[in-house]
Amino acid sequence: MRRPDQRFRKQGPRVAGFPRIKNPNKHKRIGAVLGALLLTAGALSGVAVPAHAAATTIVSLTFDDGNDNQLAAEQVLKAHGLVGTFFITTSWIGTPGYLTQANLHSIAGDGNEIGGHTVTHPDLTTLTTAAASAEICNGKSTLESWGFQVSNFAYPFAAENASVQTDVKNCGFASARGLGDIRSPASCASCPFAETLPPANPLVTKAPDEVDSTWTLQNLEDLVTNAESTGGWLELTFHHIAVGTDPTLTISPTLFDTFVTWLAARTGNGTTSVRTVAQALGQSTTPPPPPPPPASSPFSDVPSNYPYFTEINWLATQGISTGWDEGNGIKTYRPLQPVNRDAMAAFLYRLAGSPPYTAPAVSPFADLTPQTAFYKEINWLATQGISTGWDEGNGIKTYRPLQPVNRDAMAAFMYRMAGSPAYAAPAASPFTDVTPQTPFYKEINWLAFTRISTGWTEANKTVTFRPVTAVARDAMAAFMYRYNTLFPKN
Ligand SMILES: [Zn+2]
Repeated sequence: MRRPDQRFRKQGPRVAGFPRIKNPNKHKRIGAVLGALLLTAGALSGVAVPAHAAATTIVSLTFDDGNDNQLAAEQVLKAHGLVGTFFITTSWIGTPGYLTQANLHSIAGDGNEIGGHTVTHPDLTTLTTAAASAEICNGKSTLESWGFQVSNFAYPFAAENASVQTDVKNCGFASARGLGDIRSPASCASCPFAETLPPANPLVTKAPDEVDSTWTLQNLEDLVTNAESTGGWLELTFHHIAVGTDPTLTISPTLFDTFVTWLAARTGNGTTSVRTVAQALGQSTTPPPPPPPPASSPFSDVPSNYPYFTEINWLATQGISTGWDEGNGIKTYRPLQPVNRDAMAAFLYRLAGSPPYTAPAVSPFADLTPQTAFYKEINWLATQGISTGWDEGNGIKTYRPLQPVNRDAMAAFMYRMAGSPAYAAPAASPFTDVTPQTPFYKEINWLAFTRISTGWTEANKTVTFRPVTAVARDAMAAFMYRYNTLFPKN
């Protein structure tokens, strides 16, 4: 339920998302929340809310409008291993003061979410259903045509009513963010500290007021620690992270950096985590498309029309696998060659950013010596618990470095490398060649859930995973590319 104070505040300048102050009339609020006032608690029901608040707290950092100074803020997030959600008004992209499409690809490539925020940022409650639907749906389809998966929305000016909520749902959005229904520094004093997960009404998720120039570091930290006292979801909304732009919806880069540094440390308490809106809502995410490939292939055996051309080149530019120098200036990638367990260790170690590590002087594996190729990387993999080898009995452990890696084991490696995230596999297998008793059943389904590998649709329309098929080097490039977009290294 909405409160009258919120309606009042929405009419004032402090809450509206004024993206272009040179045209203030464009953003005049006219009391447009009547529809919202008609909503009752009953109308919002239909999704079960836990009787007790969740023990964990999820913080989502959201950024509205696509302002260009959000690019530097994103780099601050990246430096701390955090991700956020960027709600984009599509007609502003590429215009002065706003992000470009290339910026959006860079942001998404770091694991951030791109969300919808209409085409021109109108007050949707003042439009006809047809016009509102066009604003909402066309914004989404434009972002999708640019290659982004778009599932979540934010209302311009937080202005919505029952009709607009239906429009948002009909455009295919799973959620939409409101503002001002969670305890805020200067308002909503009797409001809860956090939204529930799942939200009572995903089409108006509850969030505090927008962060504006009056907010202090203490205000930001208090919202997080208050949310931790009850658990739940805290969605913070930023507009400008800059100096000297919009005088109201701006915080300084210094304040932002200080807060993000504090928040990143806060996630070490084991109960608070920072997630995109899609992650907070448990949505499956599809990795964004790879960056543009080089004009010509550096590998003589990977032509530019090769299915995984872009992913293989990404892998090479990251230094994860640079292929073979065949002499005479010819380089090959050997895309169809299976990946052996020793090379996989090296790939995963490099994918993790080649962290500092000293391998043991004496090999813990009977089939390895310190002179074995990739000895360091194999031992790193073992100490991470990603692949611990085989217990051959009598206290003897082996790693079997020259054995090919099958797809089931690849699923397990990536699941463990991602930190073994909480995930419940479906009771019935979606794959005809995998049952719940199949080794790594959970990990295989997790890999499909993240869309790192979704298996094959066979000629008879059944879906298979081919768990005991060896992973070829071309497919491995694709897996690693997708993994990196979902779980970018710090
Ligand atoms: Zn906005």
